[in-house]
Amino acid sequence: MTLTSALTDKLDEPHLVAAGGFINGKWNTVSSRGKVFRVTNPATGEVLAQIPDLSTHATRDAIDAAYAAQPAWAALSAKERADLMKKLHRLMVEKADDLATILTLEMGKPFNEARGEILYGASFIEWFAEEARRIYGDTIPGHTANTRISVIKQPVGVVGVITPWNFPNAMLTRKLAPALAAGCTVVAKPAAETPLSALAIARLMEWAGFPPGVFNIVPGTDAAAIGEELCANPKVRKISFTGSTNVGRILMRQCADGIKRMSMELGGNAPFIVFNDADLDAAVDGAIASKFRNAGQTCVCANRVYVQAGIHDAFVARLKEKMEGLRVGNGMEEGIDIGPLITDKAVAKVEDLLADARGQGASVQMGGTPMGEATFYPPTLLTGATKTMRLAREEIFGPVAPVFKFETEAEVIELANATEFGLAAYFYARDISKVTRVAEALQYGIVGINTGLISTEVAPFGGVKQSGFGREGSKYGIEDYLDIKYLCLAV
Ligand code: ADP
Repeated sequence: MTLTSALTDKLDEPHLVAAGGFINGKWNTVSSRGKVFRVTNPATGEVLAQIPDLSTHATRDAIDAAYAAQPAWAALSAKERADLMKKLHRLMVEKADDLATILTLEMGKPFNEARGEILYGASFIEWFAEEARRIYGDTIPGHTANTRISVIKQPVGVVGVITPWNFPNAMLTRKLAPALAAGCTVVAKPAAETPLSALAIARLMEWAGFPPGVFNIVPGTDAAAIGEELCANPKVRKISFTGSTNVGRILMRQCADGIKRMSMELGGNAPFIVFNDADLDAAVDGAIASKFRNAGQTCVCANRVYVQAGIHDAFVARLKEKMEGLRVGNGMEEGIDIGPLITDKAVAKVEDLLADARGQGASVQMGGTPMGEATFYPPTLLTGATKTMRLAREEIFGPVAPVFKFETEAEVIELANATEFGLAAYFYARDISKVTRVAEALQYGIVGINTGLISTEVAPFGGVKQSGFGREGSKYGIEDYLDIKYLCLAV
């Protein structure tokens, strides 16, 4: 395991990134197979670190450690667990600049956005530290005179967590925080593109004084092998996954035999609808925020922009003007709005979707060709998009805004719901009756009304249909990590 100066020179606290996997409170610096993998900066191609490429063996060790640690962790008082979590929260906030630097270097998003993600990620630790003390049960009037019925909530047990590269910090804390608060222990597998942010969280947990085994990280490139062990091992009682719908399906199949609980935060295909009566400036600002955050690489990014005929041309003109002000470049530089895409494969996918849309008559108003350097892609505006184009059905995951023109409310509701996904939707309108009708008709787990930003730890994040199930954040989030037990007492 080595960290290069391309990483350590940029940190105030170089020890924040630790040396390898984190299993049972120890840093696992060699893989039993002697393999390592490289983490690179997508903006420059520089190697940031070489990490031991852990797989099935290490996963099993981590599960054993989490299983052994779980009863004592659950037996702590809620306040004791909460106090450790608050300490972790404080450390994350104190080290936010370094954590953001690590995130930008390994993932590419602009530094300010990365810092925002760190604080957002930390907010889940704080929120669930607070929730740990409010895991209330119930008493129920008995069904006969001599029975007393009560309901208690207990931790599910060991949780396997699999997270993607697009929010290397927050996607982990959204799962880690409710699990720890509930009294569960965790084995996490971060995406191979971005393991350093997860390893930094483990370091902070070590510094905060969490007991060994409560949180374990298995970094590795063999996602299928690690995933299979997490799903098949009977000591793991739940899988919490954020990633593609396809991998979600694989994990559900693998968890079927063990009847494991699951939380699934899968793909999206967010409609962003602008009605004639919308506040034009607000709608354009919302579209920019929702579409171009993280270079379009989020599961709640506007994927299809539907604009009503009466406001279409004005909206497109204003959107283009704003898009022209977006600066693409290395996220460590000042004033950058859009970093690189994560990999060459991501650029190829955007190119494919654009070629298909062009072939079917979409017109490119700006952008539309790679910038020829690393994986940078310019903000791209398409008009004349239609429902037969692939980008109407598939997640673009890049800075491409396709605009679809529509005429009526009924038409756009039908178009917006014509997808197997159901994570986030957005719309802009002022008529209160229409706002109510549309909000209720959209088949999505999250609806942004006159706003393009919906993520917060205080609200339930999650989807319907093939976008998954379970909710992260809010008072609902902890329920995913608790079992209900009913006690029937005869007196
Ligand atoms: P994305 O398109 O965001 O990369 P993926 O679903 O491919 O979505 O990846 C999300 C996470 O799932 C990553 O940590 C990745 O390594 C992991 N993953 C990919 N394939 C599998 C698999 N077969 N089993 C378990 N985890 C997997």
